[in-house]
Amino acid sequence: METSGKHRTIVFLDMDGVLVDFSIGLANALNKDIGGNIDYPRSRGKKLNKVKAYTGPDKVFPITKEFLVNLLKKRDAKQELTGWETVIKRYQYSPITDNYDHWARLPKADGADYLIRGCFDLVGEENVYVLSAPVDEASIDAKKYWLAKNTPFPPERIIIREDKDAVPPLFPDSRCILIDDREKYKALFSSSGGEGIIHTPEASMEGAKNSLLTLSRMI
Ligand SMILES: [Mg+2]
Repeated sequence: METSGKHRTIVFLDMDGVLVDFSIGLANALNKDIGGNIDYPRSRGKKLNKVKAYTGPDKVFPITKEFLVNLLKKRDAKQELTGWETVIKRYQYSPITDNYDHWARLPKADGADYLIRGCFDLVGEENVYVLSAPVDEASIDAKKYWLAKNTPFPPERIIIREDKDAVPPLFPDSRCILIDDREKYKALFSSSGGEGIIHTPEASMEGAKNSLLTLSRMI
């Protein structure tokens, strides 16, 4: 279905939770720190000690990917967190801040290649972009490296910025559709003229199939 006379449809693919299995990488990094004996300086060390000292009945260790996916959903929905979720929330970005290697080595999500190929087939390769929000400078460089190594996207079709709502206005003659695992970014993107598809289950082949089916019905 064509809408509002826009002749071109551009699909934007999120990285973490869509092309990249961010949660499994984060779970591994957290488990290594919580189960290990490294004394980190300053605030990282203090926050990690709080995680290690936590003894509440809701404590689950090792941390699983599912735990982190659920925690992120609860945070985005501004739901109340349990004690264990709170100490993990406070610590979880410490191991992956200013850590190029972490971001560069994250595993590709299940279904990522299938999703990319399917989007190319549906709207044309030249109309598929990557749109990812970075955590910090180190993650920006590492994300570019990761995409060059794992995907066919040229630099001119890679956009790495936090304010995803700034992107649809850059393509005023096009219909812009974002495939993203987070409601937060779908809402942002939609607030400035874009449309969104929630990629769920995140980082999975089932999610890739769901997103492609939704996309095929939208265009
Ligand atoms: Mg994401």
